[in-house]
Amino acid sequence: MRRPFIAGNWKLHKTLAESRDLAQQLFVGTADVKDRDIVIAPVFTALAAVNQVVGDTHIGLAAQNCYPADQGAFTGEVSPAQLKDAGCGYVIIGHSERRQLFSETDEFINQKVLKCLETGLNPILCIGETLEERETDQMLEVLTRQVKGGLAGLTAEQMERIVIAYEPVWAIGTGKTATDEQAQEAHSFIRGLVQGLFTPEVAAAVRILYGGSVKPGNVDGLMAQDDIDGALVGGASLNAEDFLRIIKFQS
Ligand code: PEP
Repeated sequence: MRRPFIAGNWKLHKTLAESRDLAQQLFVGTADVKDRDIVIAPVFTALAAVNQVVGDTHIGLAAQNCYPADQGAFTGEVSPAQLKDAGCGYVIIGHSERRQLFSETDEFINQKVLKCLETGLNPILCIGETLEERETDQMLEVLTRQVKGGLAGLTAEQMERIVIAYEPVWAIGTGKTATDEQAQEAHSFIRGLVQGLFTPEVAAAVRILYGGSVKPGNVDGLMAQDDIDGALVGGASLNAEDFLRIIKFQS
C-alpha cells in the first residue's frame, strides 16, 4: 500500500505572520492524522519561520523551487543545501508555472532533481500536458518526454525518494479539474513509464499525486482511483478549512 501524500503549494502568497498562522492551524487540525504524509510549501522567505512551527512534527516542509548548485555566483537563486538548512525535506521541481513562465526545460529540471537527491532532499517532480497538447493527441508523448527527461540518470534507489505530481496545465488554477477517469488514465500511464525505466517494484511503490483545482468537493473521488496516491494543491491549500478537508479525504 502506498501512503497517501497531500501537499500544499502556497505559490507567491502570504506574509510571514500569515504563513506561520496557517501552518499552526494545519498543525493543530491534523494532530490526529497519522496515516498520510502532509507537506506545505511556503515562499522561500517564510521557510525558516514556518519551520519553527512544523519542524520535527508530522508536517513536512517543501520549497517551491531550487537552483542546481551548492553555492556560487547565481544571483537571486537558492540552493538545495540552503533549503535543507532552512528545514526543508522536499522541493517541488518543474512546476508548470516554472516551465511556462521561466522557460525551464526537462534537462534543467533533471539537474535540479539530481542535485536535490545528492543533498538529501526529496523531489516532487511535476509533469503535465497543456490543453493544446491534450487536444492534439500529444499528451502521452509529452508525459513520456517529461518523465524520461526529469528522471534521467537516476538509480532505482534514488527513484524511491521521488514523488511525481501529474498536473494537467489546463486544470491548474482554472477551476477545471480532470475527471476521475482522466486523472486515473494519466496516472496509470505514468506508472507504466516508471516501470519501463526502473522495475515493477519501483513503479508499484512510487507515489503519483494529482494536481489541478483539487477542492474539498472533488478530492474524495480523485483519491478513490487506483493510481492516485495524493494531491498537490494550490489555491485550496491557502485556506485552513479547505486544506484540512482535503488532507482528511475519505475514499
Ligand atoms: C498547483 O499549483 O500545483 C495547483 C495544482 O494549483 P491549483 O490547485 O490552484 O489548481
